[in-house]
Amino acid sequence: MTITTEVCVVGGGPGGRALALALVRLGRRVVLLEQRTGGARVFRGESVSPDGVRLLAGLDVLERVREHTHEVHRLEIADKGARVLDVRFETFPYAYRHPVELAQPVLLSALAEAAAEQGGCTVVEPASAAELLLDGCAVRGVRARTPDGLMEIRAEITVGADGRYSSVRRLSGLDRVAKRTPLERDVIWMKLPFPAAWDRRAYRVRISSGRHGLFLPSTDGTLRVGLNIPKGGLRELRSGGLGQLHARLAELAPELEKEAVDGIRGWSDTTLLDIFTTDVRRWSAPGVVLIGDAAHTLSPVLGQGVNHALADAVALAPLLADALGAPRSGRPAALAAAVLAFQQTREGAVRRSRGLQLRQERMFSLSARPAAALRRTVYRAMNASPALQRRVLAPAYFPGQRPGPAAVLRRTEQRT
Ligand SMILES: Cc1cc2nc3c(=O)[nH]c(=O)nc-3n(C[C@H](O)[C@H](O)[C@H](O)COP(=O)(O)OP(=O)(O)OC[C@H]3O[C@@H](n4cnc5c(N)ncnc54)[C@H](O)[C@@H]3O)c2cc1C
Repeated sequence: MTITTEVCVVGGGPGGRALALALVRLGRRVVLLEQRTGGARVFRGESVSPDGVRLLAGLDVLERVREHTHEVHRLEIADKGARVLDVRFETFPYAYRHPVELAQPVLLSALAEAAAEQGGCTVVEPASAAELLLDGCAVRGVRARTPDGLMEIRAEITVGADGRYSSVRRLSGLDRVAKRTPLERDVIWMKLPFPAAWDRRAYRVRISSGRHGLFLPSTDGTLRVGLNIPKGGLRELRSGGLGQLHARLAELAPELEKEAVDGIRGWSDTTLLDIFTTDVRRWSAPGVVLIGDAAHTLSPVLGQGVNHALADAVALAPLLADALGAPRSGRPAALAAAVLAFQQTREGAVRRSRGLQLRQERMFSLSARPAAALRRTVYRAMNASPALQRRVLAPAYFPGQRPGPAAVLRRTEQRT
């Protein structure tokens, strides 16, 4: 079977679904391939940064998901048992100030529903892109495996929105200009009963020597925990039995001892995330472009992946829509210019987020006593200075927002 379309999007994660929606709203025809069915996801993060919330509002899907979101008001870092930083998101002078927790299946359904209502998007799932269709050296679509056999999608532009292990990146040769940097640690994710005494509106980072854990409220009422372990250290941890995992947790959060025992009864209650960043030098080749994790896999610090996938989609859609509106003879050149402009628009923001994440990772893993003391001093200085908090966190949380109306509003609120 063959389908001909304007844009073939491979991957129905946040990036692919948002791009499909934005394109059909601009009147373009899209085929989206997703290898899983029914929005099934392997364990995924739920944190959407304030800028991601702004992008969802711009896509008109925030109201659809609002009742499923959990707004976060604070970010608290405790080092060696003492709170060293307490960021209050309401103090930031932006229109969208708070991160939210939002389960990815809910987000993906909302994006898919909005695209279906608009019309113009054909979703094929399960369908796994297996080969690229080539015309000379230009990509002209994909060949996908489906339960009914092979299917061809012929498209003027193919978008690899297929995540951190992107097949489109590999098949298009863009992997050759990708630099994968493993971080020094992996993360084990798990869910625990939410401790009664904890604030449900706070993100918590706990650091002890060179170890750290993230403790995040989840929309299902549980506590999502990301515990860092040395790279490849899972086997050693498992050999010590579950008791060792419980002890690791208790070292960072002694008050969670009972929750850890109640919540983790087997290794199947945990998910390992191999942490690496991928920096792809060129996000496009003739007829193909990468977005989201396929173009730039980030680390989990400060929940940046969803935000950047959405931002890519929102930036790329109008550029592609314009180029597809060009006369047929000029279209390949217009598309080539569009995908280059897309990378130029987006790569600075990705670079700044990656830089901030790597600096944070390094800070978290400092274990020598003087370095750990310096880390505490830095966090305390940040704690004392809202301006410094804004400077440090803005690239991650508010890159697309300008300080303004919210600050004015807050000052007015304080006066009345
Ligand atoms: C355990 C974990 C926790 C995370 N926590 C957070 C968090 O709290 N906040 C945050 O912002 N980010 C988090 N992230 C990162 C975030 O999930 C990603 O950055 C984000 O989902 C990227 O979106 P994407 O659309 O680019 O790719 P993905 O979400 O990875 O979507 C890619 C899609 O492509 C599909 N696919 C892959 N190959 C093919 C193929 N050949 N054919 C068809 N379909 C294919 C996949 O099934 C998938 O649905 C986390 C990631 C993990 C793994």
